[in-house]
Amino acid sequence: MVPTGIFVTVTKKERCLWCGRGFLPAAGPGRPRRYCRRSCRQRDYEARRRADELGIGESELVVARHALDDLYDRLYVLEAAVEDVDRDLAAGDSAKEVRAALDWLLDAARPLCGISRP
Ligand SMILES: [Zn+2]
Repeated sequence: MVPTGIFVTVTKKERCLWCGRGFLPAAGPGRPRRYCRRSCRQRDYEARRRADELGIGESELVVARHALDDLYDRLYVLEAAVEDVDRDLAAGDSAKEVRAALDWLLDAARPLCGISRP
């Protein structure tokens, strides 16, 4: 019997080593791509050169304080929303309450979606 329904082709995405965006791997021979675009490859190269100049290792990173503070602020908002949603869903789980909780969580999470490396 042939199954019926909607079929979705799932293609495994790679993650850019620089910005973390997903991208479709190129088909065919050759070295697999590691970056979503040429500018990311260039930035990563420059960052590695700069790290060499500063004598820091691959596991270390220099980040502007304001960028890190901004990230922590956004994570704090998300953490608070997760706590709110946990509490709200423990109190009630009707479709309307779940929808409201999901909206609340998405509002807190969306600002994190646009974050990329400076
Ligand atoms: Zn990228």
